[in-house]
Amino acid sequence: MAGQPLLVYGPKSLTYDFGTRHPLSPRRFGPGIELLRAVGAEPGLAPEPATDAELEWLHSPDYIATVRRFSTDPDEPPMAGIGPGDDPAFAGMHEAAAAVAGGSIRAMEAILRGDVEHAYQPGGGLHHAMRSRASGFCIYNDVALAIARARRDGLRVLYIDLDVHHGDGVQALHYDDPAVLTISFHESGRSLFPGTGSVAEMGEGIAAATSVNVPLEAACGPEAWLAAVRAVVPALAAAFGPDVIVSQHGADGHFWDPLAHLSLTTTAMGEAARLVDRMAHRYAGGRWLATGGGGYSVHRVVPRVWTLTWLAMAHEAVPERLPADWRARWEGDAARWDDAPLPVGFEDEPDVPPDRSRSPAAAERAKTTVSLVRTVIVPALLRAAESRGWRLFDDGVPDSETRATPAAEAQPARREGPASEPMIRLLVPADLDSLQVAPRVAAPADAGVTAEILRAALRDGAVAAGAVVGEWLAGVALVSSGPAEGVDQLVALGVAPEWRRRGVATAMFRALVAEQDRRGRGIAALHTAAERDPLDPLPRAVRRGVAERLATHAGLAVAAAPPEILAVDPDAIVAVRNSAN
Ligand SMILES: [Zn+2]
Repeated sequence: MAGQPLLVYGPKSLTYDFGTRHPLSPRRFGPGIELLRAVGAEPGLAPEPATDAELEWLHSPDYIATVRRFSTDPDEPPMAGIGPGDDPAFAGMHEAAAAVAGGSIRAMEAILRGDVEHAYQPGGGLHHAMRSRASGFCIYNDVALAIARARRDGLRVLYIDLDVHHGDGVQALHYDDPAVLTISFHESGRSLFPGTGSVAEMGEGIAAATSVNVPLEAACGPEAWLAAVRAVVPALAAAFGPDVIVSQHGADGHFWDPLAHLSLTTTAMGEAARLVDRMAHRYAGGRWLATGGGGYSVHRVVPRVWTLTWLAMAHEAVPERLPADWRARWEGDAARWDDAPLPVGFEDEPDVPPDRSRSPAAAERAKTTVSLVRTVIVPALLRAAESRGWRLFDDGVPDSETRATPAAEAQPARREGPASEPMIRLLVPADLDSLQVAPRVAAPADAGVTAEILRAALRDGAVAAGAVVGEWLAGVALVSSGPAEGVDQLVALGVAPEWRRRGVATAMFRALVAEQDRRGRGIAALHTAAERDPLDPLPRAVRRGVAERLATHAGLAVAAAPPEILAVDPDAIVAVRNSAN
């Protein structure tokens, strides 16, 4: 282990200050940093302003010049989102905002150098800032800039946004980059700023399915929220194969937060942070930068969420009670700011939120939304693996020992030349003991995990045709028992890059259909944006064309996908072949 996480905080953190009546207040650092210190966290990196060259990775030179003008003359007429309202000008705002960005960029560099595994800037997470516009209390987008820093080293980045507001700026600034997967859980844009973040915003072209949005309704409650995080993040982390994880832990989803309405708890937020920690160790070599975010209950909520996030990063248990002297110190301030009484524990009591502030209907609709998101974003093989119990992508067990190989480096030691023609045949369970699964035959990103899933699937009675070259499994087509009587579901059809575009997939698909005919079983396929090679994705429309041709050549009838799927993934198709018997 590389020791304690790096805590990013210093004098300049306090200068990001829109004034006493603004909700995003540096007052939060008083109780917040003191509670962090009470559990053993000490600031180890004081933010200093990022350079203009660094800000220009994502922000326009004109915008930076505008922020600088406001910084010296806050009375300039409003422009670029800066002015009365959410983002009022203040003297020194450029240096203050650039320091938040500098804190996250320097923290990312410490992670990339291997000085630390995890770093945390509670004052960061300014996820609404756009290329040329301030928005939602955010001037420069420190999280997106930290991601950009990792991208300059060629790394693949998974971004997880747990703030109650849609992470629109981070999504927009990396929307066309297939090597940045952004996932945002937030209150629906229908009821909350910034109004975006629908499931249909999933990225375009080669970046389709790399912007993921899980909009939830007011009062969905902590169980539905946490279930959504668990249903989406682990499977996507496995599919995508990140080299580094960046996460935003806004505290404003809490029931006591004055600005939003999801009715969450610190308990659920702490559990989500521990889940991100497990993902970092399992899929990203431990590399993880976390930031704070929104949070407007400065005394009752923000310090506890910051500390729970840090405890997750430090792999330490949550103390049962808040320190008595911390409560004594801040009780008066909390009352003065109408944010009292202070709770007793880090995690919430069972009556938070009370039943009257939970909506069972919203919790139910969250399940429908999550199911739709999974259908269009999570590869079918991984969905089947979880539902059939072939492989779980998060078993809830902390494993600071597990180290995944970054996907880009997962290459076999030796390989038959691509000149060799694959042999197409049905697979038996023993094949997965003798054959090596070639990288990128199918999701997930790590071929070793793919092998585990295929082995479990075949033992579970799934039927598969494979393309075998020497000791390598160079392609696979797999069906699992489906929802309809007599019809099985295609859950994988893939070929390793060296053997693509030579008819291997068609040959496997035909062999599989012939076997289904022999067994008197039909076959159904649903192709969505989820089915992609995360390292070298084709544009979504091209993928759709390939899927249509493969299905047609194998004797399936292609049709439009159900309307609820088409509404978010216009290139989705279904294909069916009924039993020949
Ligand atoms: Zn960790």
